[in-house]
Amino acid sequence: MKPLLEIKDLQVSFLMKDKLINAVDGVSFDIPRKKIVALVGESGSGKSVTALSVMGLIGYESGRVMNGEIIFDGQDILNMKEKKLSKIRGKDISMIYQDPMSTLNPAISVGEQIRESLLIHKMASRKDSKEISIKLMEEVGIPDSPQRYRDLPGSFSGGMRQRIMIAMALSCKPKLLIADEPTTALDVSIQAEIMNTLQDMKNRIGMSVLLITHDLGLVAQYAERAIVMYCGKVMEESSVQSLFEEPLHPYTIGLMNCIPRIDISRDELSSIPGYVPSIANYPSGCRFHDRCSEAKPVCRDKMPDLIQINEDRRVRCWLY
Ligand code: SF4
Ligand code: MG
Repeated sequence: MKPLLEIKDLQVSFLMKDKLINAVDGVSFDIPRKKIVALVGESGSGKSVTALSVMGLIGYESGRVMNGEIIFDGQDILNMKEKKLSKIRGKDISMIYQDPMSTLNPAISVGEQIRESLLIHKMASRKDSKEISIKLMEEVGIPDSPQRYRDLPGSFSGGMRQRIMIAMALSCKPKLLIADEPTTALDVSIQAEIMNTLQDMKNRIGMSVLLITHDLGLVAQYAERAIVMYCGKVMEESSVQSLFEEPLHPYTIGLMNCIPRIDISRDELSSIPGYVPSIANYPSGCRFHDRCSEAKPVCRDKMPDLIQINEDRRVRCWLY
């Protein structure tokens, strides 16, 4: 079966001081149907920009898709008219963000907002919409849903607000949910609850999820495939199982050493030295070279290609 989403050689550029800068630089990957695929990397790696391109939302802050293809369910999204795209967006592709308050309307009750989204996407009749909204609230784990239908977003905790966002995003039973750092703003204990809810809903609806995160711990637990990005480039792609059994790229290994573990105290936790270079100053050669302990002279001069190691894995590093 064809993958649900195919991204081919995507290049997204922004204009900065009269210079075109590539935030996403030749990125290709697929999202299979009914799978959770993680897009991993520190902030500034181009993950969110990739996701916004899939939503057709690039272009609002002087960014532009310069090259590539995005094929969703057999349809070319990049060359689609806005009217048709806006139907797909919200109906077949939904998105949730780190901060639900940026999307929820603080002046309208949460129940009414879910109901509105059902009606917009013609997922319920006016008559049934309230009942279905309450059922959705129950499904995503909001206690006392019938009583809380009329409450405003401000009276819910961060975790509960994220559940409300999930209910809204799933009200149209999308084929693809893009979750951009959905639990980053939440306590660790609540993170797991939200991720379990997402996984549960994914299985119930049969959708695919693009999980954008900097947290490889989440990837290990919830995703089936992972794409590791750095400075706008894919550095490694693998099934999650092989990635954790044998991480290949030094950047992936660095990220793994940052995962908090019960048997390691916080002080022993390593972090990758240095910082993600600013988008305006990507280093020459391999963009990771000035943070990489394995760097060789060639790494400074020439960018390695993303090579296929076996049918399961690709890696961009001179060591392979
Ligand atoms: Fe490190 Fe060189 Fe591999 Fe880049 S190409 S990750 S600098 S070893
Ligand atoms: Mg981001």
